[in-house]
Amino acid sequence: MQGFGSTIFAEMTGLAVEHGALNLGQGFPDTDGPREILDAAKAAIDSGRNQYPPGAGVPELLEAVAAHQRRFYGIELDPRREVLVTVGATEAIAATILALCEAGDEVVTFEPYYDSYAASIALAGAVRRTSVLRFPDFAVDEESLRAAFSDRTRLVLLNTPHNPTGKVFTRDELDLICRLAQEHDAWVVTDEVYEHLVFDGLAHVPISTLPGMAERTLTISSAGKTFSVTGWKVGWVSGPAEAVAAVRTVKQFLTYVGSGPFQPAVALGLGLGDDVYAGLTRSMQDKRDVLVSALRDIGLPVAVPGGTYFVVADVAALGATDALDFCRALPSRVGVAGVPVSVFHDDVDAARTLVRFAFCKQDDVLREAAVRLSALR
Ligand code: PMP
Ligand code: GLN
Repeated sequence: MQGFGSTIFAEMTGLAVEHGALNLGQGFPDTDGPREILDAAKAAIDSGRNQYPPGAGVPELLEAVAAHQRRFYGIELDPRREVLVTVGATEAIAATILALCEAGDEVVTFEPYYDSYAASIALAGAVRRTSVLRFPDFAVDEESLRAAFSDRTRLVLLNTPHNPTGKVFTRDELDLICRLAQEHDAWVVTDEVYEHLVFDGLAHVPISTLPGMAERTLTISSAGKTFSVTGWKVGWVSGPAEAVAAVRTVKQFLTYVGSGPFQPAVALGLGLGDDVYAGLTRSMQDKRDVLVSALRDIGLPVAVPGGTYFVVADVAALGATDALDFCRALPSRVGVAGVPVSVFHDDVDAARTLVRFAFCKQDDVLREAAVRLSALR
């Protein structure tokens, strides 16, 4: 793991704390999720659910994940064989790659990529092959994606809605990924942790619902984003039974089990009404609009995100030439933290002056951040 120092999130949160800056760097909400699930976690602790849960996850959560996939996407899963609970999506990603890849196998993914992808691929001794998504529209380039595939391709690691760009992959882009995965007989591992943070009436389309894909797709999600409880670390992976069993084998020796009393609370959360899900999306879309207009007001080109709680802006207009330097100085300069997109790239030049800001913060925090950023004009 040489070359993988501390994560950019740890670095920028450290600087934010040191300088008392508003932390629009690390993506975590500053308000907790629905009262019902917080109470359910307390009740689970008080009722003695504090020892090791079952290896695959508590039955009510396995069933709740299956019911959620049926309710929102019409996906049918056998909760006992086709769902596995993990310690956040992070463990699901690592365990899935470790389960599917032998050393030297290739993983196709897009850059910028969420940082744990590169690390998990390295842990498996696999090789990363990427296709660049370019600011401001972050469209998939067919030629470069095709070129990333080879006869060593084992899996495609997809993330939609996409961190850090906020991109929601279009149906045409998903169809292209399906065609290439099928041509190369590759698995698709899809990270859908932002599945409920999709704006402007766009729909989240799980790639496993496209023709011929259910049998070659493992779908990952997590409670952290949907219910604003990022510290609970309850995630899950679902898909064909044999592949889920392989992931379970790896998971046994990474963490064995995790998050005991939070699992029944998340099960309750997944069953909450449509109004709860819609309310979360609406409130996050409003926050997006606040931050996008603040960034535009100071003259920055912005890629308006269709999903997630991140927005990418080009800070070249402020005279910056390197986003990493810019972000290291920002907390002490104006009291705001962001994250340089370049650290999520192999091709650093593709994002030399791009900065990601998180808008999952209270409205007055966003407004104050806008005031502070305007000092940069
Ligand atoms: N995937 C993506 C794209 C993320 O942004 C994150 C960060 N929250 C994760 C996975 C990790 O999720 P978790 O906190 O559930 O491990
Ligand atoms: N997923 C969050 C982000 O992208 C934070 C993850 C982390 O701190 N590792 O900001």
